[in-house]
Amino acid sequence: MLAGDMQLMADAPDPGIGMTSRRTRERLIVRLKEAGIDSAEVLDVMRDLPRHLFVDEALASRAYEDSALPIGRGQTISQPYTVARMTQALLERVRPDTVLEIGTGSGFQTAVLASLVRRVYSVERLQELLERAQARLRAIKKRNVRFRYGDGAQGWLEYAPYQGIMVTAAPRGVPRVLAEQLAPGGVMVLPMGEETQQVLVRLTRLEQGFEHEILEAASFVPLLSGTS
Ligand code: SAH
Repeated sequence: MLAGDMQLMADAPDPGIGMTSRRTRERLIVRLKEAGIDSAEVLDVMRDLPRHLFVDEALASRAYEDSALPIGRGQTISQPYTVARMTQALLERVRPDTVLEIGTGSGFQTAVLASLVRRVYSVERLQELLERAQARLRAIKKRNVRFRYGDGAQGWLEYAPYQGIMVTAAPRGVPRVLAEQLAPGGVMVLPMGEETQQVLVRLTRLEQGFEHEILEAASFVPLLSGTS
């Protein structure tokens, strides 16, 4: 099939039944609304992005269920609700121009952010996952993302400070290095705590010091140190 044909199919008003059908995606959006996601722009982005391209083909038929799925190397693509909730929490108060993401994973959260802010910087410690995520973002033509292979616990000093930081793996507490790469007024959303007792936290950098809010319970893979 020619690339042009694929484009036509993607643009068709209703691709019909199956995993990419409008109805399947709409069901997920209804579920997200019921779960309390009320940002129209976040819901629109979640509706438009092809999540089935961010998981293995064998799991593609489950891509529009509201669940986390394995992406290899013991990691998971986050549950759609979690992606929506964290994105909403990050964008609720200020509109960040630049966002640093720690834990690229499948690249799905990266794609959500890239649809909503000017530039995203994303760090991943597993080369294999990073390369796959990069290819996916290229395939869906999100060009406003810079990737880095490295230990995200160190942040990415070169482009700091960031108006937004999103962490998608859980440290025990707030990593000071990351907090210091936040611009004044900037917001960081992160899960933290021990594996069985995590919470989602929003940290805001004030002119002096930080303010933090606990949003809800969370369940993420741990933030590990170093690369592999
Ligand atoms: N948002 C991603 C979540 C992936 S799971 C998605 O929805 O696909 C969390 C990711 O964080 C994993 O890919 C894991 O390898 C990565 N990670 C864990 N510790 C890290 C660290 N110190 N630096 C960078 N990435 C890290």
